[in-house]
Amino acid sequence: MTQVIGGFAALELHPNILAAVIATGYEEPSAIQTLSIPVILAGHDMIGQAQTGTGKTAAFALPILSRIDPAKRQPQALILAPTRELALQVASAFETYAKQMPGVSVIAVYGGAPMGPQLKAIRNGAQIIVATPGRLVDHLRRDEKVLSTVCHLVLDEADEMLKLGFMDDLEVIFKGLPAERQTVLFSATLPHSIRSIAEKHLRDPKHVKVETKTQTVTAIEQAHLLVHADQKVSAVLRLLEVEEFDALIAFVRTKQATLDLAAALEAKGYKAAALNGDIAQNQRERVIESLKDGRLDIVVATDVAARGLDVPRITHVMNVDMPYDPESYVHRIGRTGRAGRTGRALLLVTPRERRMLQVIERVTGQKVAEVRLPDAAAVLTARIKKLTNALAPLVGDAETTHGELLDRLTADIGCTPRALAAALLRKATNGQALTLAEVEREQPLVPNGGAPRGERSERPERSGERSERSERGEPRERRAPVPLADGRARCRTALGLRDGIAAKNLLGAILNEGGLVREAIGRIQVRESFSLVELPEDGLERLLTKLKDTRVAGKQLKLRRYRED
Ligand code: AMP
Repeated sequence: MTQVIGGFAALELHPNILAAVIATGYEEPSAIQTLSIPVILAGHDMIGQAQTGTGKTAAFALPILSRIDPAKRQPQALILAPTRELALQVASAFETYAKQMPGVSVIAVYGGAPMGPQLKAIRNGAQIIVATPGRLVDHLRRDEKVLSTVCHLVLDEADEMLKLGFMDDLEVIFKGLPAERQTVLFSATLPHSIRSIAEKHLRDPKHVKVETKTQTVTAIEQAHLLVHADQKVSAVLRLLEVEEFDALIAFVRTKQATLDLAAALEAKGYKAAALNGDIAQNQRERVIESLKDGRLDIVVATDVAARGLDVPRITHVMNVDMPYDPESYVHRIGRTGRAGRTGRALLLVTPRERRMLQVIERVTGQKVAEVRLPDAAAVLTARIKKLTNALAPLVGDAETTHGELLDRLTADIGCTPRALAAALLRKATNGQALTLAEVEREQPLVPNGGAPRGERSERPERSGERSERSERGEPRERRAPVPLADGRARCRTALGLRDGIAAKNLLGAILNEGGLVREAIGRIQVRESFSLVELPEDGLERLLTKLKDTRVAGKQLKLRRYRED
């Protein structure tokens, strides 16, 4: 679909950046990207109002990468982010988009990791620095010239940075930057404090905001489920067990995701196919025809590929990846509930996307109820119901046609009719788990998104560590542990406050060495002589092996599964 690629091509990005975007599988720019990219490319200062999930990172990363000079081995762009996790995410997005720009390197600078290598990478000519403010100020103290060549500054999630108390640090950083520079500020909200920063430090900024109109959605039952990003596929499979759908369309963001999810569904026996911008027109028509006539039940599509798709059989829309804006949400879910029928729309929400959910609720004027993942008992009930529905019509006059054969076979084999029927059932259900114990064994993972915690900042005096501090010195080392969320295991290390450990050190070590995303790690409790960390049960042994040689504060972490009894 060349006109689709035209969406990004029309934005006049550097050809190598455009090539990387296409290779990443993005089909068209999101609304915030369409609006911001030309403004940033033209060199203006900008205030962008957008939250996570709108594609805001690419909205500034693509034009900034297009404007830097790879031949100059010195810092040219500085991106400030409120948390270590966001800094890492932004840095990795820059790396992805810069893949076809030889000579461009990106360094993430955040607290909790040694400063030496970070400074070395900056001095070695990284052009893009993605940093949390606190740690960057530490670097500035060591070398006040470290930012003297930066000509593009981005404040990402500026409102969050202020909430976390980084105002003073930001002022120090502004002083360390050349006055002649482009400044771009992204923020979900624009309170007075943000406006005054903009007034003081931005020059004639352009305002960019995706306008949202109130939209009505009727006859569609909407629900959302909180889930961690890496567990989406298993969550979808589990939901489908209990949802009674006729035909379903699942929306994801990239071509690769259409292929991956369609393959996972097919492997589970669903009649599913992928629909993305790479699929030729005639093949696309075949897929839609098949969905119409029941040869397919599930289509996994990107927004672009699903454009104009109108299939009355669709009873369900599953938003596996968050849409970029409320309009496209309304557009997506409008695929169901056609012709006066009712439809059901499910939305998977990762912890960072909860704000986007609120925006959707505001714009549509409707609450999107929270549902939880069905447990093993619900899955079993649904499976048995499906089996009953499939078998009931087969009974009919079977006894007349096959009754005698049954008598003969039971006599020949020497078994009861019940034993033979059970054997036939086992064959017909193809080894599917159909007892509670088996279903439980089969589906242990996916904790219900629960109430995923907010992120922690690099600042110890903020966030979850306050409680930890109040515990210090209390003679209650053995208080009853907090109940564990589903799918999590509690692990223990003998390192605690007396070893100079803080939660952020443990978090940093486990994230870096274990290769986990922030959301995968639950509560961290640091006590005087030990600490407890909640980790995903799924893959725990592998993770513990990975962390075998990890050291924190110069000591071996030696994390072990912790049994409460
Ligand atoms: P952000 O709002 O920057 O946190 O981005 C949310 C997610 O959307 C990230 O996983 C991006 O990789 C993805 N994304 C951003 N822009 C696009 C696009 N134009 N097409 C598909 N996916 C995108």
